[in-house]
Amino acid sequence: MCFFIDVILPIPIEKLFTYKVSEKEAAYLKQGMRVAVPFGKKKIYTALVFKVHNKVPELYEAKEIDQIIDSFPIVSETQLKHWFWLADYYMCTIGDVFRAAVPSAFLLESETIITRNNDFSLSESELKDDEWLVYEALQHQAVLSVGEVGAIIGRKNIFPVLKSLLDKQVLYLKEEVYEQYKPKLMKYVRLAAKYSEDGKLENLLNELNRAPKQKEVIMNLFVLEADLKKPVKVKDLERKARASSGVIKSLENKGVLEVYHLQVDRIQFEGKETESSKTLNEFQEKALDDIKEGFRSHDVVLLHGVTSSGKTEVYVKLIEETIAKGKQVLYLLPEIALTTQLIRRLQNYFGEKVSVYHSKYSVNERVEVWNHILTNNSKSQIVLGARSSVLLPFSELGLIIVDEEHETSFKQFDPAPRYHARDAAVVLAMMHGAKTLLGSATPGIESYYNARTGKYALVELNRRYGNVLMPDIELVDIKEKHRKKRMNGHFSDRLMKEIEETLSEGEQVILFQNRRGFSPIVECETCGHSPQCPNCDVSLTYHQYRQQLRCHYCGYHMAEQKSCLACGSTDLNTKGFGTEQIEVELKSLYPEAKIGRMDSDTTRGKYGYEKIINAFEGQEIDILVGTQMLTKGLDFRNVTLVGIMNADNLLNHPDFRAHERSFQLIQQVAGRAGRTKKRGKVIVQTYNPYHQVLQQASMHKYTDMFSDQINERQQYKYPPFYRLIKLTFKNKDYQKLQEAASWFGNSLKNSFGSNVLGPEQPPIGRIRNEYILNVLVKIPPKRSIKEIKVTIQRIKKSFEAIAQYKGVKVVLNVDNY
Ligand code: ADP
Ligand code: ZN
Ligand code: ZN
Repeated sequence: MCFFIDVILPIPIEKLFTYKVSEKEAAYLKQGMRVAVPFGKKKIYTALVFKVHNKVPELYEAKEIDQIIDSFPIVSETQLKHWFWLADYYMCTIGDVFRAAVPSAFLLESETIITRNNDFSLSESELKDDEWLVYEALQHQAVLSVGEVGAIIGRKNIFPVLKSLLDKQVLYLKEEVYEQYKPKLMKYVRLAAKYSEDGKLENLLNELNRAPKQKEVIMNLFVLEADLKKPVKVKDLERKARASSGVIKSLENKGVLEVYHLQVDRIQFEGKETESSKTLNEFQEKALDDIKEGFRSHDVVLLHGVTSSGKTEVYVKLIEETIAKGKQVLYLLPEIALTTQLIRRLQNYFGEKVSVYHSKYSVNERVEVWNHILTNNSKSQIVLGARSSVLLPFSELGLIIVDEEHETSFKQFDPAPRYHARDAAVVLAMMHGAKTLLGSATPGIESYYNARTGKYALVELNRRYGNVLMPDIELVDIKEKHRKKRMNGHFSDRLMKEIEETLSEGEQVILFQNRRGFSPIVECETCGHSPQCPNCDVSLTYHQYRQQLRCHYCGYHMAEQKSCLACGSTDLNTKGFGTEQIEVELKSLYPEAKIGRMDSDTTRGKYGYEKIINAFEGQEIDILVGTQMLTKGLDFRNVTLVGIMNADNLLNHPDFRAHERSFQLIQQVAGRAGRTKKRGKVIVQTYNPYHQVLQQASMHKYTDMFSDQINERQQYKYPPFYRLIKLTFKNKDYQKLQEAASWFGNSLKNSFGSNVLGPEQPPIGRIRNEYILNVLVKIPPKRSIKEIKVTIQRIKKSFEAIAQYKGVKVVLNVDNY
């Protein structure tokens, strides 16, 4: 009998692939274990075993696997089930999900290894200089990696050299897999075992009287051992004994000390004792009861709690109860920036039971968290993470909390899987028999609709903790202010007066502007030219600080221009403004104040956010200017004023969610003000103070906004009534793109008629030199979304078979947010 395995490859192919294994291997292998397999001409991939069986594949001859990587499954059964659901629902391949889910260290890829040809019989004079260097290195070393060859010849493009050496038969190329994850080892030290015998130790100490430095080290080792009651690190001993590593080394060489290694976790909780959770007030208590009541009849509860109502403390109670039952908790956050504050809060209560999982962590750290979760180790019983943590190997999941559930950053846009983490979380919880709690001060229209119609249970918490009033939101008409000459740059007299008062009280200010950089457009006053990105259909944004013009879509940049590129005039002007400009204006308006800026230009690196958030918390900053990222869930104690520099560019998005989002954004930024005792003040500058949504936001009328929006959604056939699938087509050749997208659009129209819109050019019609066209499929309430997806996939298949459309990319986006 023959044995086979079906595996998932980490590449976008539709089907599982079958490989041949021996009987012994078949008995050893289980679903969820990794194997290295050959694929294509020479490539070796890490694949995941899905099934072991005896069925010979019909269409191709199964190859043998290269090697088995794991001794136990690293992916759980439920996790796999969830991955398949995700691939199916979001119309991508299981390989896409696999690749997105696991830390890259798990996906060992083959590396090209260069080995020497021992039968080589050319005279060295036939080699060029570069070639000779490689040849010589191979005389000392049997194998070289591509990277090493690059280092030897001192340049990146080594392939011409390798090719020539190959032609001359000097070397071979070979593919090999290598393990990326390296356990972190720490050096420890102890006294050699032989000194535990009677008398031996005394002799040693007597002997060492002649070497006082060394004796000092030994004495300190005893002290540390007695103090710590656990292994002593070499580092600690060096510090304690004020000894150099040389002294310890020589004791080691003499056989007095033994140095050994232990594996340690990279992520360690350094904190002290944990504290007990807060006593809830009566409103929080009621909300907690209601949530538990809700869970009795529903799998999902939506907690609609105003900003600063103490939702987090309610979550903490639920977490306590869940982990007491030995279950795992997943706490999803929309933004890495938020983890900084929350991790501290949660660690105060739960100590090292909390782990963080997100992309700013190193690969090695992520592997460790993964392994803890897989084994339900208490160290990762509570996982705090961004969207990709719904893909982790939970085994005993009891509760998922989706905080700020309305946030669109839960949706992944590129690459596939283009999933929504909130929705994927609800499904994941269901598969585990766990519960999901969605929390927000401004729930998404879909979620609130689900709660209103009974699909989710709804719990309301509409009082701020400590009975602080909701912030007072004032709309300031800047058209009027301009007319009356009451503007100073982008600051109205109202905003300035409030800033001055706030600063004089020793309180802090947050200013929100939706754009980074200094100014989105630089325009020539003489000819009207403004510099454009050569690769995208957008103007270049002026960054004064770096003296550059930058494209926010592809990263293209060039030095700031002093004169017009078209006509040479030096009469240049900027249009529109970003965070940098606000910062500059503030510095001249308030030279005494300390001003900080938080946007993606200032928060690069792992601790980028942390530094700014800590500085603001520590009141080293008086006024913090920032983009979206400072609107979300942050809890600052001393902020009493929030300014929104311009609300109009929020409202003017060409998107059916623009109004919902503007409401959420204004309410959320406003929610950062006055979280302790004093009522917060919010100034919203706008050209349209009578706009319905601004009015609703300023009066905290969530349900009014909801009713308006839900009516519009119904009328114009949008979610939650109609579902959306967006197809995006991309190509460098506009003509070809247009023909291709029309063909696809027409095929869709044949099946779905007027529910297909487009092809249509998005507001930015070209990015990275690729033109873009969109087609939108609206799916009516009662139609099976499954069937529609099958039809779309079928059309896509035919499309891909058409030679003249080859190279046109098609991206499918389900529930496009
Ligand atoms: P939300 O998540 O709803 O915006 P938070 O949970 O951040 O609100 O609570 C706002 C502030 O009130 C926090 O600083 C929090 O520590 C404090 N707080 C909330 N509930 C309590 C409580 N029961 N006892 C003491 N402080 C609380
Ligand atoms: Zn010009
Ligand atoms: Zn660009």
